[in-house]
Amino acid sequence: MFDKILIANRGEIACRVIKTARRMGIKTVAVYSEADANARHVRLADEAVLIGPAAARESYLVVDKIIAAAKATGAQAIHPGYGFLSENEDFCHACEREGIVFIGPPVAAIRAMGSKSEAKKLMEAAGVPLTPGYHGDNQEPAYLHRQADAIGYPVLIKAAAGGGGKGMRLVAKSEDFIDLLASCKREAISSFGDDHVLVEKYITRPRHIEIQVFGDSHGNVVYLFERDCSVQRRHQKVLEEAPAPGMTPERRAAMGKAAVEAAKAVGYVGAGTVEFIANQDGSFYFMEMNTRLQVEHPVTEMITGLDLVEWQLRVASGEKLPLAQEQLQIRGHALEARIYAEDPAKGFLPSTGRLVHLAPPAEGLHVRVDTGVEEGDEISPHYDPMIAKLIVWDINRDRALARMLQALADYRVVGVANNIEFLSRLTACPAFATADLDTGLIERERAYLFPEGETVPEDVWRVAALAELVREAQRAAEAAKADRDPLSPWHARDGWRLNATARRELVFRFGELQQAVGVVYLPGRYRLCVGARAVEARGELNPRGLARVELDGLRMDATVIVAAEKRHVFLQGRAWPLTRVDPLLHTGEGAGAEGGLLAPMPGKVIALVAAEGAKVEKGAPLLILEAMKMEHTITAPAAGTVKAFRFAVGDQVGDGAELVEFEAAAA
Ligand code: ADP
Ligand code: ADP
Ligand code: MG
Repeated sequence: MFDKILIANRGEIACRVIKTARRMGIKTVAVYSEADANARHVRLADEAVLIGPAAARESYLVVDKIIAAAKATGAQAIHPGYGFLSENEDFCHACEREGIVFIGPPVAAIRAMGSKSEAKKLMEAAGVPLTPGYHGDNQEPAYLHRQADAIGYPVLIKAAAGGGGKGMRLVAKSEDFIDLLASCKREAISSFGDDHVLVEKYITRPRHIEIQVFGDSHGNVVYLFERDCSVQRRHQKVLEEAPAPGMTPERRAAMGKAAVEAAKAVGYVGAGTVEFIANQDGSFYFMEMNTRLQVEHPVTEMITGLDLVEWQLRVASGEKLPLAQEQLQIRGHALEARIYAEDPAKGFLPSTGRLVHLAPPAEGLHVRVDTGVEEGDEISPHYDPMIAKLIVWDINRDRALARMLQALADYRVVGVANNIEFLSRLTACPAFATADLDTGLIERERAYLFPEGETVPEDVWRVAALAELVREAQRAAEAAKADRDPLSPWHARDGWRLNATARRELVFRFGELQQAVGVVYLPGRYRLCVGARAVEARGELNPRGLARVELDGLRMDATVIVAAEKRHVFLQGRAWPLTRVDPLLHTGEGAGAEGGLLAPMPGKVIALVAAEGAKVEKGAPLLILEAMKMEHTITAPAAGTVKAFRFAVGDQVGDGAELVEFEAAAA
């Protein structure tokens, strides 16, 4: 076994690998960019090496810098995590050249599976079922068009080198093929430097079911069952689970066998995932193989009781697989939710900022949190906006669902927009709860997932007001302690006023809704009026914002976090980001901040959709910006005219840069 390994990654996966290495008594070396100098993975590792500026291209993706760091620290092996250099042939070669073990498959397996087209050819030869389609070398548009016509619409055009849900175009009818082919090739060149595409039959209402495989250097390959990753947005996974609901032992064995054959066909060693697309009737086709540890590997760990990173380290150091196929078993059910700093209501727009308050649920037998950040850390625009992966386990799916709902309800994040609320709705939505799964679930359930015209429960306003009052009282008590005259009426916070009644109003806002809470000070408690209804309230607040609240004798727990004028109320499993409206201060966000014509974050302009001078409707797409691995469409804030674009395609823009000069039509 190795004495010391280097982890060529960041964030939660770097922390995840460090955890196992430490348990096995292996020393760890982290690498980090200038933006990550104080990141959690750097704090956890035994040693850490600075490898360059924030941009991944200049740090985490630079092969030479990583190799140099390994040599300088005497690391014998490198774990690449996922993303970054994990599926990079040049990197594997460089490791080989320098006598450093790459903790992953042999370079030939990475090469064989690196192109979706080449992989399909190999799988065809190995007798693995394939999605019907064309994956040959002829890239002539007219030829591909004829192939698509023959396959029958809808078809999917895929970049052979694609990944991360990018470089795909759905074509509904023959007339659209040529245009979509061109746009797919454009994206493929700019994202992957290779515009080779394949054309596949588009499966309607499919499920994404993948098989975890593991090989060793002694010729053994096993499968560690399946994961269902059907719940996706923009072809990217959001919720994953194992085992797949409705899976029969026969189908599992058939898929497992196909996956093992796929792995054997390329001489696979280490952890890999064979992704299949499955029809509702259970028939399945090979989609691609990911030659690395997958983001969602923890659900497999939870149902098998194994540590896949430990297996990776053992296999990489030449050991045999710890268990044979017959020794592997599924126990219970696990779910994983990817917690992102993003705003689901704004098309999942990533959000950046400081994690002012971060309180994950308590970990234990049933709950696991894999994260790369702690309270006070920053979600920066340079990398993936993932905050954590929340994984739960229980003896069956229903109980695991209940665990997930509870854990999400307990998760508190303040400082960046996040998808926790969305994940709760997703977990609770009837289609997911009854395992009526397919990759279109989120689109199909929009009405449930994005409810409109929500009202705020009255207790939320009351709790916000009560927390405000308790905090004032605490501050007054502290001031009094520090003061010479603790009995001075100036410190009193029980509503005593010179020349005034003991009444006041606290005003809060939630989106467009504004609510005044009337306050009457009573001995040891307050009377709070929301509308006509008065409730007697009292409470305590600890420095972490945890509140013990009593409303008309009913006790409840809540959390209220203050961040500038925001009051984040967490009550009964939901977060309510309210704004305290101080009528004397006229705070409140500037009107300009809502406009859609400023860059929401630093990024690159990848398309100008509207023409200069064009008259457009409200909501019309104007420009596409790529940032944090995603595309964001900047839309018209109102009906009006596109006067001028301030940037050209390919330009890098800063946060808040004015992208488009826009003139709204006179109302
Ligand atoms: P990536 O490399 O981006 O992960 P995949 O080939 O694995 O690309 O596809 C990603 C997702 O796109 C799948 O999980 C599935 O939701 C969808 N998809 C891929 N191929 C098809 C297909 N032929 N029909 C329908 N959906 C598909
Ligand atoms: P998966 O199917 O497991 O989501 P993807 O191909 O989408 O696989 O990528 C795997 C993961 O790697 C992504 O979810 C993302 O978090 C991470 N990743 C990929 N590329 C990068 C990158 N350039 N920077 C940071 N993280 C990345
Ligand atoms: Mg995939």
